[in-house]
Amino acid sequence: MTQERMITLSEPWYDDNETSRVREAFSGRIGGDGPFCKRVETRLARLLGARHVLLTTSCTHALELSLMALGVGPGDEVVCPSFTFVSTANAVLRVGARPVFADIEDVALGLDPADVARRLTERTRAIIPMHYAGQPCAMDEILELARKRGVFVVEDAAQALGATYRGQSAGALGDAGCFSFHETKNVTCGEGGALTVADDVVAARAEIMREKGTNRKAFLRGDVDKYTWISEGSSYVLSDILAAVLDAQLDKLDEIHRRRSRASSLYRAGLDDWAKRGGVRLPSALDDRRGNDHVFFLLFPDERVRDRLQARLRSQGILTAFHYVPLHTSAFGRAFLLHDQALPVTERVASALLRLPLHPLLEDD
Ligand SMILES: *Cc1c(COP(=O)(O)O)cnc(C)c1O
Repeated sequence: MTQERMITLSEPWYDDNETSRVREAFSGRIGGDGPFCKRVETRLARLLGARHVLLTTSCTHALELSLMALGVGPGDEVVCPSFTFVSTANAVLRVGARPVFADIEDVALGLDPADVARRLTERTRAIIPMHYAGQPCAMDEILELARKRGVFVVEDAAQALGATYRGQSAGALGDAGCFSFHETKNVTCGEGGALTVADDVVAARAEIMREKGTNRKAFLRGDVDKYTWISEGSSYVLSDILAAVLDAQLDKLDEIHRRRSRASSLYRAGLDDWAKRGGVRLPSALDDRRGNDHVFFLLFPDERVRDRLQARLRSQGILTAFHYVPLHTSAFGRAFLLHDQALPVTERVASALLRLPLHPLLEDD
């Protein structure tokens, strides 16, 4: 099997629209907060029903920025999953706080509200649910828990653009939401992200921290006649070139999701009987949430069967992958596991899960 014939896990879908939009961006200035940034922020705010949207250089940076703007810092604890990408926990460390891992529930593979409740202490300042595979977590329970205990909810919605929970957009349900436009995500500009913020005061802080701690954005709006250093911050502004790519991607958002949904449905139809016979679980469809077909996975009854199937598919030119190495079992993350703590669902799922190729360029056969 030649390299060209391999079926890969994910493929971004770019065409002439992206390149012509980039050319258009070059007709003006290409720094951050230019015309395409403004346009995409407005489109995302409308799409998500979010009050404030800021484009960022990545989802990792959006997570850092959100925690910084919410005032999470040294001495604070942030509850997050171990079954997630490293960025979720890294963002917590970047602001000087401590990640505390909670287990996931067995159905949507998102944070388990009951286990989150067990991890809350007087030092807990925030909870970061991650919407795995673009399937929203049990948000009502998590939000209620957070409200009762007075802690923030920051959604790691890196994979969840377009997903909904009880009719509302994932990533616009908590105090803040963070999206990724990395090339492996449903909508992409190579590298990029976005932050949603619910509260006006927090949004104003985020706007400043995103611009090196200056009020440059207010200056660009004409609200102030010079800009100056007014808080700590960093450089999280996305170039207008990349925003132009996002603008073209949003034009075909419906078609991206139609194609992904079609591939998922074909997997379901084709694999359902086989899965039942072999005790393999397919992603669950839940009444109160609509995913965005970011990932299609299989959950095997045991690790060896999974590994054997992966090797066999590879020999036929089909690339699959498993993830995540649970953060609490990684060389670095072990230190953050509480001494009496077990994360049985996380460990079982991580050893049994296999991702199948899923992207808009996948052909039916
Ligand atoms: C992709 C991903 C990220 C990181 O996104 P970047 O834009 O690459 O920083 C964070 N969290 C999760 C769950 C992801 O899947």
